[in-house]
Amino acid sequence: MTVLEAIQRSTEFLGRKGVDSPRLQAELLLAHLLKQPRMRLYLEFERVLTPAEVEAFRALIQRRGKREPLQHIIGSTSFCGLEIAVSRDVLVPRPETELLAERGWTFLNQLSTLRSSQTGDGSTPSAQPSIVLDFGTGSGCLSIALAFKCPAAEVYAVDISPEALGLARENAARHGVAERIRFLQGDGFAAVPEEARFDLVISNPPYIPSGDIASLQPEVRDYDPHLALDGGADGLDYGRRLAVEAARFLKPGGRVMLELGDGQAETLRAILEEQKWIVEAIEADYSHQPRIVVARRLNDA
Ligand code: GLN
Repeated sequence: MTVLEAIQRSTEFLGRKGVDSPRLQAELLLAHLLKQPRMRLYLEFERVLTPAEVEAFRALIQRRGKREPLQHIIGSTSFCGLEIAVSRDVLVPRPETELLAERGWTFLNQLSTLRSSQTGDGSTPSAQPSIVLDFGTGSGCLSIALAFKCPAAEVYAVDISPEALGLARENAARHGVAERIRFLQGDGFAAVPEEARFDLVISNPPYIPSGDIASLQPEVRDYDPHLALDGGADGLDYGRRLAVEAARFLKPGGRVMLELGDGQAETLRAILEEQKWIVEAIEADYSHQPRIVVARRLNDA
């Protein structure tokens, strides 16, 4: 069987199994197996695969046909250009969460520019680090991206799942930022030292309404941990908790930045305003859905 034939057959198979973008998925899996960039396949369409390669490819395609996510089969995904290992213990990082990360590091870098200009002596930003709380770190993707992009940032990464924290630690070490991330196991702010104060509280909390989980696509429903998805009856349990609990931990001028679910923007805005937050921005994702909310304290104005 040639490379092209293998791709064509598995595209058809994955399509029948209801997998989105079956040709792309087949190509990505074959490229992974052959340890080469996907575009290389196009130069090798006529190459005949060895029996061992055919067998191994078939096994990967079978797994994907059972709707196991591509990222789980490959074992990692890319987040803000960083390779992040994933497993069944963590939510697979999503492209829309990269927008949240970017919002976060843009704010932190503005803060450190401001602070070093205020010191007037050009002292290094690390003289006064920005302190971040990542509420529900999962794979660690947000904490790692922020630490990576902001040399002056120190991050507290909280998660209730010890398994998730184990993986997040490995991911942080791989990108050389582990010494600026403090990993804390526990339920949200309960895990945070009483005296800690943050410039930024960032979170991609579980936000799927409990009743919607059964109808999610199998890749999500059967492979992402429900702990990382389930946001309670209306999906806003964690939004409510953050609106109430984050204020006390925020430094003056600090921000809260949250990802939110479909149709939740106006309810979350009302929850935040009720708790004396000013909603500074609600940003849309790549499919023009409101996805990220940025808020600061009313009394900062
Ligand atoms: N912070 C992680 C992410 O953005 C985990 C989020 C979650 O488990 N809900 O992917």
